[in-house]
Amino acid sequence: SGSGLIVSFGEMLIDFVPTVSGVSLAEAPGFLKAPGGAPANVAIAVSRLGGKAAFVGKLGDDEFGHMLAGILDQNGVAGNGINFDQGARTALAFVTLRADGEREFMFYRNPSADMLLRPEELNLELIRSAKVFHYGSISLIVEPCRSAHLKAMEVAKDAGALLSYDPNLRLPLWPSAEEACKQIKSIWDKADIIKVSDVELDFLTGSDKCDDAAALSLWHPNLKLLLVTLGEKGCRYYTKNFHGEVEAFHVKTVDSTGAGDSFVGALLSKIVDDQSILEDEPRLRQVLKFANACGAITTTKKGAIPALPTESEVCSLLKG
Ligand code: ADP
Repeated sequence: SGSGLIVSFGEMLIDFVPTVSGVSLAEAPGFLKAPGGAPANVAIAVSRLGGKAAFVGKLGDDEFGHMLAGILDQNGVAGNGINFDQGARTALAFVTLRADGEREFMFYRNPSADMLLRPEELNLELIRSAKVFHYGSISLIVEPCRSAHLKAMEVAKDAGALLSYDPNLRLPLWPSAEEACKQIKSIWDKADIIKVSDVELDFLTGSDKCDDAAALSLWHPNLKLLLVTLGEKGCRYYTKNFHGEVEAFHVKTVDSTGAGDSFVGALLSKIVDDQSILEDEPRLRQVLKFANACGAITTTKKGAIPALPTESEVCSLLKG
């Protein structure tokens, strides 16, 4: 297609999900391998909707790293921004929902390959060709990937890309909540588009109101669009000139993993070729309805990547 390129930067990993829920990690009889990592999910979401996407990040030169690169390739995401680390292994996460409803996390990240991406390894030509450059905040946690992240953002911005940021807080990965808040905000004013969840809004503002005042307290002068996703309640949007809410679709939710990434991918795939949508409330609402539909569909199937919809699946839901 003739659409502009969306480059997504950050981590890609494998979630090991127990075959039985409600047990601790130690009691799990077995695990399913679920590829994930928010920036990789976003790239695949874009591609599945017919857009052009590339992923920039580092994987281990191991079984899991090549499996993940293969998944990007099978999904039409350009892999020329991927580096393979010869020493460190691909990031792994073990995520279980215990019987008491608490989520239990265990990460292989000491350090994993994604954390070792160096600025000089970046494919700058690829990053400069991005119309939209999307990123999270996990790559800010440690060096050298922090420097790589900052450089990639700068190169993309200098080349004229629209910067899209989903902090995608994963608190267990950070040394402390204060550090997470500080680092997430350290790149806040560089982004043109920011998407946070209601939980992240509370975390970043230190309030539990999740209202317009809280959202607007996060506004910065260069921002073009701030989005707050509200799960089954849809999303709120804020621009310099208008703000409002777009309601969600009613679906039978099985697993909400990846809903936010699907939402972001859908939004970016629609604005990459027409940024005037950001200043046109009726058209922006149409796009957010589309993004809500993508998020909703993603919750109807297990896992993130397998649940990301195609354009025709979204059209069916939109037609009702
Ligand atoms: P995140 O995954 O970042 O926490 P959300 O869970 O808010 O983000 O999901 C993103 C979007 O996906 C929501 O704005 C909504 O449109 C859609 N969505 C999420 N959960 C549901 C649900 N249970 N029913 C319908 N739509 C949903």
